[in-house]
Amino acid sequence: MPDPDFPAPAGAARHDVLVRGGGAVGLSAALALARQGLRVALHAPGAPAAASADVRAYALNAASVALLRSLKVWDALPADARTAVHDMHVEGDDGAAALHFSAWVQGVPELAWIVDAAELERALAAAAGFAPHLDAVAAPVPAALTVLAEGKDSATRAALGVRFTRHGYGQRGIAARLLASRPHAQQARQWFRSPDVLALLPLDRPQPGHGLGLVWSVPDDRAQALMALPEADFEAELMAATGGAAGTLTLASARQQWPLALAEASAVHGEGWVLVGDAAHVVHPLAGQGLNLGLADVAALAAVLAARQAAEPWRPLGDEKLLARYARERRLPTLAMARLTDTLLHLFAHPNPLLRQLRNRGLATVDRLGPLKKRLTAQALGL
Ligand SMILES: Cc1cc2nc3c(=O)[nH]c(=O)nc-3n(C[C@H](O)[C@H](O)[C@H](O)COP(=O)(O)OP(=O)(O)OC[C@H]3O[C@@H](n4cnc5c(N)ncnc54)[C@H](O)[C@@H]3O)c2cc1C
Repeated sequence: MPDPDFPAPAGAARHDVLVRGGGAVGLSAALALARQGLRVALHAPGAPAAASADVRAYALNAASVALLRSLKVWDALPADARTAVHDMHVEGDDGAAALHFSAWVQGVPELAWIVDAAELERALAAAAGFAPHLDAVAAPVPAALTVLAEGKDSATRAALGVRFTRHGYGQRGIAARLLASRPHAQQARQWFRSPDVLALLPLDRPQPGHGLGLVWSVPDDRAQALMALPEADFEAELMAATGGAAGTLTLASARQQWPLALAEASAVHGEGWVLVGDAAHVVHPLAGQGLNLGLADVAALAAVLAARQAAEPWRPLGDEKLLARYARERRLPTLAMARLTDTLLHLFAHPNPLLRQLRNRGLATVDRLGPLKKRLTAQALGL
């Protein structure tokens, strides 16, 4: 029996591709494919309202920035909605164990960019509104290929019978915008203090040179307690956790929280469909890589479809063998990132004193080994 919510591809369909989901990944996919001349329908119910409330600041790597630049979205972002990171300082539970990364040592203009999540979605939606070959549709329409970008709770993925294996971490990520009394100096800071992971990301909003994006991963019960605290008490907790390293911190937005999990779809492609972004995989935000993975999915899919256009235009867009190339290309990078974030989290969340000593020594050792550190950094930067 055909599913009315997942229309079968029709021979005379007006659109080549249907993108479902108007988050950053779905919007990027719609733009990237329309740019190739494919006729794209975008089904993104309710997306702009959700975007306007997001207080997160995303860390984006060079590959993500290159994709957004090619979509003419990067330069459309307001200057204070993206800030380059020149240095990164990571501390273990023991104040003496630290790792320091520098763009200068790495020989790159910046280590990453910190981007206002709501502005990014707004800029993507504005670009989608003007893009040729791209139509917003109120309901799913028939197309040769459906790109599912519905996020981690994708109902269409479930309707396709794809399993989504989810391991909850029993943690929540609290995000907020902060104002710091000290200049951020384009430095990102991260503290791994078992079991918390706290990151302060430089962003020139709400004030140039003094804005910070907070991502604080803590166990569920502590998250509930922190969310319930009056602002002044929350700020006091922040000061205690950061030891005043970033100066006096004041809340500049509401606090929002997300349950954290590691999740993976049992398949990311089939005849006529692919999964991209959080609909395909979810990782812990401690390495700031979830959206980077999703945008890399988009770049890989766009490359596979462009190669088809050049070499085998007779092959249908929804051809399972064609889409398997996309799945193969994304398999290893996704697995590697899932393993890395999971291992780091378990290593740093574990209360065992021996592990604690080992991980702190590990940080200090990596910091001393210049070439190893340089290689690790290049990998994380997507260089
Ligand atoms: C606290 C926190 C901090 C993070 N920090 C970073 C970071 O620094 N760097 C980074 O790279 N990543 C980060 N991430 C990860 C990043 O937020 C996600 O990977 C990214 O938002 C996923 O985008 P998406 O478009 O795939 O999914 P979503 O943003 O979830 O968008 C999915 C969209 O699909 C819509 N939708 C749902 N169902 C349907 C349907 N049936 N039909 C049509 N539309 C539908 C939804 O309304 C939504 O608009 C962080 C995550 C958290 C929780």
